[in-house]
Amino acid sequence: TDPAFIRNFCIIAHIDHGKSTLADRMLQVTGVVADRDMRAQYLDRMDIERERGITIKSQAVRMPWQKDGNTFALNMIDTPGHVDFTYEVSRSLAACEGAILLVDAAQGIEAQTLANLYLALENDLEIIPVLNKIDLPAADPQKYATELANLIGGSPDDVLRVSGKTGMGVEDLLDRVVERVPNPVGDPEAPARGMIFDSVYDSYRGVVTYVRMVDGALAPRERIQMMSTGAVHELLEIGVSSPEPVPSKGLGVGEVGYLITGVKDVRQSKVGDTVTTARKAAEEPLPGYTDPKPMVFSGLYPIDGADYPDLRDALDKLKLSDAALNYEPETSVALGFGFRCGFLGLLHLEIVTERLQREFGLDLIATAPSVTYHVTTEDKKVTTVTNPSEFPSGKIQSVSEPMVKVGILAPKDYVGTIMELCQSRRGSLLGMEYLGEERVELRYTMPLGEIVFDFFDHLKSRTQGYASLDYEPSGEQDADLVKVDILLQGEQVDAFSAIVHRDKAYAYGVMMTERLKALIPRQQFEVPVQAAIGSRIIARESIRAMRKDVLAKCYGGDISRKRKLLEKQKEGKKRMKMVGRVEVPQEAFIAALSGD
Ligand code: GDP
Ligand code: MG
Repeated sequence: TDPAFIRNFCIIAHIDHGKSTLADRMLQVTGVVADRDMRAQYLDRMDIERERGITIKSQAVRMPWQKDGNTFALNMIDTPGHVDFTYEVSRSLAACEGAILLVDAAQGIEAQTLANLYLALENDLEIIPVLNKIDLPAADPQKYATELANLIGGSPDDVLRVSGKTGMGVEDLLDRVVERVPNPVGDPEAPARGMIFDSVYDSYRGVVTYVRMVDGALAPRERIQMMSTGAVHELLEIGVSSPEPVPSKGLGVGEVGYLITGVKDVRQSKVGDTVTTARKAAEEPLPGYTDPKPMVFSGLYPIDGADYPDLRDALDKLKLSDAALNYEPETSVALGFGFRCGFLGLLHLEIVTERLQREFGLDLIATAPSVTYHVTTEDKKVTTVTNPSEFPSGKIQSVSEPMVKVGILAPKDYVGTIMELCQSRRGSLLGMEYLGEERVELRYTMPLGEIVFDFFDHLKSRTQGYASLDYEPSGEQDADLVKVDILLQGEQVDAFSAIVHRDKAYAYGVMMTERLKALIPRQQFEVPVQAAIGSRIIARESIRAMRKDVLAKCYGGDISRKRKLLEKQKEGKKRMKMVGRVEVPQEAFIAALSGD
């Protein structure tokens, strides 16, 4: 296809503002999906995406569109809107020349609308502002068109109004894309250079790599080369998604499509890498992306220890399609053998654990999420700590923690309660702006460790769900952080150690000792439950000794009943964990970790 007739664009929006639904209508209006085959959120292929109604993986689709007697090829890239998946969004943006900025006409601009808009502007994309859901009775297009125009410039009349649900305005929007989005430019004679913006694992086809061609062309049966590793693969199939895969004769300048090489591991086909041909290799790779860095760590343990090998296999398989997932084996006194896993954020953690449970049938327990700390001891040694149990025991000179810049958008009535929450989480206010008469954007720097836990839940409940949140990494800062250990009869229970600010250490100690006291059954002897910083005890409870033994209860009863009881007790023992001399049912640990 002549690049003059190609338009590459993406849709960016806050979560739930209707990207996937609008994408559905575009598939229908352009005729690439027949009405009878249509189902909602057509491009959300994973079960978990469909059930939760969120997009996790980006998708690229090619659609034909007629305008002024010419046929254009529109390549649309649907992107996820959630903060955890920002790295997916930025990859998609780099493959486009334009972006549809979609805003719910009943909600207005939200935190991720802004975050995604800034990403698009950094990538020099042409922005097409659009209000969606104008069919809703609560829609106020006039008001929000003004809000959008104030934000990006231009007049409120330039803001298109559509409904992804009814299809209203979608044809005009596609015409606008053709008019406003610049066509791709590249050198057709130069050695091939294509940018990998996604790669997914498909159990039938192996790794499917999505590329955006910048220069030159790729053809079937050619030998392609990955520029970062020099690895050469034979191209088994090349084509476009429309949205089902359609093999083609090749991909030229500006085109977006997929490559199949029979490779089995997505790490061989790295997102951000440049593909070229082995025959006539390019000299310079295209500018790459920064690798997504795990921000949140948690230990994943099988509830039944015998499932450990299955958990390892399942993680290996998930890694094939999720290059951002990190894991390594770890052991815990309380929980046995498991894995320390690194995630992009809490939603990523939740989705991975849910996929492990559903797609692989594993029962898991996850330890409290932790961030990365750098601990400097008096001998000037710096230790990187992603698990509280790795916290050095020597004299500590300083501890630094990751910081984030947080943007919160909410109606102005909630400013007071939001500030209170942010202050209690050690936030410092950077600024506050009105985005119209009612809505305010609050900007804070805050320790990441303070928001990974339950910040978003608190924010939502304090604002009746009206606040939205976005954050980005913003360096590190020293803080007065300590490790609090939980001890059962003097023995440390590793899964409950936590790194917290000194001011919050006591509250954490009290909460955990009370919880464990309530959950751990009585033993033959008294068991102290303590919280400590180093050797200093900061909170204590005790579990009183049990008086009667189990058999005493059925004194005089028949013997078979006694035997049954004994058997039952043995059964129970299997699921007991020993901490020193104390027997703790695993359920107690699990309940204490999940906080219920
Ligand atoms: P995404 O998170 O941006 O991909 O949003 P979805 O496309 O999944 O839409 C979120 C919700 O809004 C779904 O319940 C949709 O049915 C609904 N929705 C999307 N577009 C419209 C629209 O134009 N009108 C109405 N009334 N609802 C819509
Ligand atoms: Mg979606």
